[in-house]
Amino acid sequence: MTTTTAEPTVGAAERLYEVADYYDAESLLTEDERRVLGRLRSFLDREARPLLADYWERGEFPTQLAQPLIDLDLMEPADLTGGPGSRPARGIYQGFRIFELSRTDASLATWYTSQAGLFRTAIRVGASPEQQAAWMPKVIDFSLKGVFSLTEPDSGSDIAGGLSTTARREGDSWVLDGAKRWIGGAVNADVLAVFARDQEDGQVKAFLVDRESEGVTLEKIHGKTALRMMQNAHITLEGVRVPEAMRLHNVNSFKDVAAMLRAMRSDVAWIATGVQAGAFEAALRYVTERRQFGRPVGSFQLVQEKLARMLGNVTSSLSLVVRLTEQQAKGIYRDQDSALAKMQTSLLMRETVALAREVVGGNGITLETDVARFHADAEAVYSYEGTHEINALIVGRALTGESAFTR
Ligand code: FAD
Repeated sequence: MTTTTAEPTVGAAERLYEVADYYDAESLLTEDERRVLGRLRSFLDREARPLLADYWERGEFPTQLAQPLIDLDLMEPADLTGGPGSRPARGIYQGFRIFELSRTDASLATWYTSQAGLFRTAIRVGASPEQQAAWMPKVIDFSLKGVFSLTEPDSGSDIAGGLSTTARREGDSWVLDGAKRWIGGAVNADVLAVFARDQEDGQVKAFLVDRESEGVTLEKIHGKTALRMMQNAHITLEGVRVPEAMRLHNVNSFKDVAAMLRAMRSDVAWIATGVQAGAFEAALRYVTERRQFGRPVGSFQLVQEKLARMLGNVTSSLSLVVRLTEQQAKGIYRDQDSALAKMQTSLLMRETVALAREVVGGNGITLETDVARFHADAEAVYSYEGTHEINALIVGRALTGESAFTR
């Protein structure tokens, strides 16, 4: 492994998240895990932070950060797992990795999670043991970059019933036709994990499509007002041939896709928590420095009430995702658990970033103070991986035994 950063000094008594982690959830991390996260922290502070405002405004991803971030070996760090294929990194570490990335920037967290969460989950859940053995090491070291292509132009929330991209078997290969929308990171991917409906049995199947295949067209989605650094694509598939060997053999219906979404929603709950931490920390810094009426803005009672609410939201969210992660470590995975976490942390995130923007005043709408970036980016996090309403309906279905989905 190569890293571009010097080893940081995270001493035993030193806290990484002292400001936003009020109840010391990070004490659940081992010293080794904290050291890896400290390494990520120093990279982000030194190399990434200075670029964020400029690249956000330009609507471009700072591609110079990609390889150094990959080189940090964050998915299965050798110093935590004992090397490739030994044992997975713990869920609580994975959660704090997402937290650290998103408290710096939501696009960076989304970019990393599109490989470490979405694509990796597609392979972990969808690939056969033989396929996993061949692909997983390359997923972990990013030598096989992939994206998760589920959403379509005419089907977002109702993708389970509405998915209309088709797959037609022809001998040893398949022919795909249709379109995909919003696919994060597709422009730089080697393969697109595409979900399509088998014309013969009507079930949803999954295929790894080479991005360079004939019949694949990618268009960047322009004019976004959130997650501007992250590149999303509109993908058109016209008569695209995929060998049977590149079909994910364990995906045989939408139920298998739902199992993937369950894992991915937990990751997004961690992103929504990290975004709150970043916005809160930036706002706190600002109100202690900015003076009005001869005093720091942070000394006013009305401002302190907002700071307390922000901290309450971050603390609630962090407690929720930590407990969810502990449950998952015990093997308890239910749709309603990750849906509840995604719904609730996103709801709190919206309030936290709005309060952060508010206490920074006019400067809260400029990119200079960080809070504007978090405030804008939160809107994308609020909607992706299941909107508020859809996650609420998943929880409601579990509570009542009645599905409010109409198909
Ligand atoms: P719609 O489904 O059209 O919903 C519009 C509104 O109607 C929402 O408020 C919704 O909650 C509400 N609504 C819909 N149905 C109901 C109902 N039954 N009851 C009450 N309200 C309802 N997808 C991928 O496959 N891969 C990706 O990498 C990816 N990345 C993304 C990145 C970004 C930045 C964004 C914005 C989206 C991304 N998505 C991706 C797609 C994302 O998952 C969808 O945007 C999301 O599922 C919502 O679908 P939609 O945008 O089509 O909204």
